[in-house]
Amino acid sequence: MSTTLSDAPKGASDVEVKHTECFIDGKWVPAASGKTFATINPATEQEIAQVAEGDAEDVDAAAKAARHAFESGDWPKMDARDRGRLMYRLADRMEEEIQSLAALETLDNGKPYRDSLTADLPLAIDAIRYYAGYADKLHGSTIPIRGKYLCYTRREPVGVAGQIIPWNFPLLMLAWKWGPALAAGCTIVMKPAEQTPLTCLRMAQIAKEVGFPDGVINVVPGFGPTAGAACVKHPLIDKIAFTGEHRTAQIITRDSADTLKRLTFELGGKSPNVVFADADLDAAVQGAYIGLFLNQGQCCCAGSRVFVQKECHDEFVEKLTALTMKRKVGDPFSADTEQGPQVDRDQFDKIMSYIQKGKGEGANCLTGGNRVGEQGYFVEPTIFDDVRDDMAIATDEIFGPVMSVLTFDDKEDMLRRANNTFYGLAAAVWTRDLSQAHDFAARVRAGTVWVNCYDVFDAAAPFGGFKMSGYGRELGEEGLKPYTESKTVTVAL
Ligand code: ADP
Repeated sequence: MSTTLSDAPKGASDVEVKHTECFIDGKWVPAASGKTFATINPATEQEIAQVAEGDAEDVDAAAKAARHAFESGDWPKMDARDRGRLMYRLADRMEEEIQSLAALETLDNGKPYRDSLTADLPLAIDAIRYYAGYADKLHGSTIPIRGKYLCYTRREPVGVAGQIIPWNFPLLMLAWKWGPALAAGCTIVMKPAEQTPLTCLRMAQIAKEVGFPDGVINVVPGFGPTAGAACVKHPLIDKIAFTGEHRTAQIITRDSADTLKRLTFELGGKSPNVVFADADLDAAVQGAYIGLFLNQGQCCCAGSRVFVQKECHDEFVEKLTALTMKRKVGDPFSADTEQGPQVDRDQFDKIMSYIQKGKGEGANCLTGGNRVGEQGYFVEPTIFDDVRDDMAIATDEIFGPVMSVLTFDDKEDMLRRANNTFYGLAAAVWTRDLSQAHDFAARVRAGTVWVNCYDVFDAAAPFGGFKMSGYGRELGEEGLKPYTESKTVTVAL
């Protein structure tokens, strides 16, 4: 895989946008309404391109194409192993185009090019390959029931999967959703986020070129309450896989009631990252820094509540602040940039308002707290110390580079506070005491727990939330289940 930065694009003008229409039944088509919307470069606030604004009519066409492809034609006839081979080809092409895909991701989302190239793309390719290997390994079992019968189960694809993804990791979220759906033999209607439709559209073309039959993968760009809601309500779509805010998931739950869709949700978080005084403090500082500031703070699993034990608080905060003050914010195409802009004006305004709330509620702003420059949605990496549990910056998901440091003394009290949130996506603990680490891992209410590390992802390790951080799991073998139905067959002997 060529992940060298030496031939990185010099900037936005170096990046080619090839696809801006809806991709339905293997063809590029404008939205039925003829409407388009602008996708914006968050580093410059300039329009990159006008993209087709899909709505109910386009979703209807996509759902019909996906249904048709699911029921007839080459896809259901294809041997599972060949389906896997097609997926390997898709991953190979992503690898061949890794630089142009990474550049397009950076242009549309604002994340540093070096992150797109060395993290987002390799992880996305890995997820497609991981699930490609599963295509011919999904099988049922034979079951010894009473009487003279042969009883067995079949694992069948759930049908047409509606997939609605966010803007923070556009390609990676696509891979987490296409991977298990295609391996299971489903067909897809995907609605990318309105902020970042470009790499998803590019992937549709790549899928066509490597040989996915028409209708297997359809992409309808557009807005949530229109195109997204149309997917959720469409009777020909069997399942919705959604990543985004819990409030949107609540709307989706209501909108899907009439068609009783299978639902999987990967939602937000306010994840506790706990540092005990016996920890390797330098590693913990690094883990807190990455755990929050990665991807401009726009991670559902961001370690946004950093609980630090009293004895090591001063040293920890001093080291963390020094590291954070050096963080290089700027042009995402520049090789030394560590932090790009936030994705859009709404997110930028929301983050700045939380920073104001933090200051207003009396938290101690150790560094940051301001906009960077006058163009683009850049925010200084910000650390608040002396944060109380009831402050807005400690309870709400900010989705930006704003860290809250909370101090604790007693372990039991810390555990109660760490769990005192309606979220439960991720958690981490830093300690040299094995029992302490495992005790925390067992008692924290979160879908992922990292011990002496943070943000370690792998296609084989399930990811998802407790409580209002979602339900169902993505990745790993568990991630396949929601894309299948189990059928019991009983044969009289
Ligand atoms: P974020 O605040 O991160 O944008 P959202 O939950 O609003 O989170 O968006 C995630 C995805 O959900 C996007 O693709 C968005 O268009 C879509 N979406 C938003 N509202 C709805 C809705 N009512 N029905 C279906 N999809 C929606």
